[in-house]
Amino acid sequence: MKLSTEALTVAFSGHAKSALDRVSLAVEERRTLAIVGPSGAGKTTLLRVIAGLLKAHSGDVRLDGRSIATLPPRLRRIALVFQDDALFTNMSVRENLRFAIRDASRSDGDRVTSTAVALHVAEHLDRRPRHLSGGERQRASIARALLSDPIALLLDEPLAHLDPSLRRSVRDEVIGLRQRFAGPILYVTHDHVEAMSVGDDLAVLVEGRIEDVGEPQRVYDAPRTLTVARFLGERPMNLFDDGARIAGIRPEHVRIVANGTLRGRVVRREPTGADAYLEVETLRGVLVVRVGAADGARPGDLVGLELPAPFLRHFDRASGIAAQAEQPA
Ligand code: ATP
Repeated sequence: MKLSTEALTVAFSGHAKSALDRVSLAVEERRTLAIVGPSGAGKTTLLRVIAGLLKAHSGDVRLDGRSIATLPPRLRRIALVFQDDALFTNMSVRENLRFAIRDASRSDGDRVTSTAVALHVAEHLDRRPRHLSGGERQRASIARALLSDPIALLLDEPLAHLDPSLRRSVRDEVIGLRQRFAGPILYVTHDHVEAMSVGDDLAVLVEGRIEDVGEPQRVYDAPRTLTVARFLGERPMNLFDDGARIAGIRPEHVRIVANGTLRGRVVRREPTGADAYLEVETLRGVLVVRVGAADGARPGDLVGLELPAPFLRHFDRASGIAAQAEQPA
C-alpha cells in the first residue's frame, strides 16, 4: 500500500504563512520516510492531516492512489504515535494493548504478547503506564499502534523526551519494526542523525515546504537547496561566495594540508570526543573544518586548506537551488 500526499496546504487563521505549502510526498510499502525539519516547520501538522485529525485547505491524502481525505480518522486505519505517549493511565499496559485491537472477538492474547515481546515491554504488561520509564511507555505506545492493524504508521518525534541511551534503544526498536509491519512509515523528527538512521528516504520540511526529498546520504551530500545545506549536519555546510554563485563544502571534507590553496588562522577549536571542529579565518570567511581529536592545530596557528573539487557544491544565489558540482575556483 502506498501512502501519498498531493499538494497539501494548511493555513491557520492569524498566521501570515501557510503551515503546509503544497506538500507532496509518497511512501511505498516497506519504506520508512523520515521527515526532518526545525521547530514550527509543519511536521506535526502534516501527520495530523494524514491521520485525519485536521482538514487541509487544499490537496489530497491517498492510499494506493485513492483519496482518503474525506474519511474520518478511524476509517483511515492510519496509526499516529505522538511524542507524548497517550496510554490510558487507569489501565495496565496489557489492557492498553488489548484495547487497541480492532476485532475484539478474536483471540488476541498471543498477539498482545508477541508484539510486547518484539518491543521489549513484555515484562511490563501488568503494570500501569506511570510505573514505566519514558522509553518503555514509548515502546508500549508503538506496540499499541501496531496492534490496531494500521495500513500506515505515523511516528511523531517518538524519541523527543528520552535520554540518549533510551533514544538509541527505541530507535533500534523502530528500525526493527520492519519485521512485523510492512506498511509505509512516516517518522518525524527534528534530529537529522536520527532521521538518517531511521529513514530509507529523507524529506526536509522547512516553513511548510519540502525543500528536498530522496536517499538520505544524497540529501546530506548534495542538498537541493541552500536551506537544506544549512539545516542538515552536526555543523552546517560551509558556504562562501564563488563568483556569481554560492559554493558549499561540508566541514569533514575540508582538508588541512601543508601547501593548501587557501590559508587561514585557527580562531577556535571545539572538541567533540572523537573529533574536533576548527574555525579557520580565511579570505573566504570563517570555514569550519572537522579534524581528528589527535590533530594538533590550535587557536592562533596558521594552516593551509584544500577544498577537494568532488565535495564542492554550487548554489544559485537568487533561487538557492543547487547546480551540479563543478571545479573549485
Ligand atoms: P515542532 O518540531 O516544534 O513540534 P512542527 O514542525 O511539528 O514543530 P507544527 O506543530 O506542525 O510544527 O506547527 C507548524 C506551524 O503551525 C507553527 O507555526 C505553529 O505555530 C502553527 N500551528 C500548529 N497548530 C496550530 C493550530 N492549531 N492553530 C494555529 N496555529 C497552529
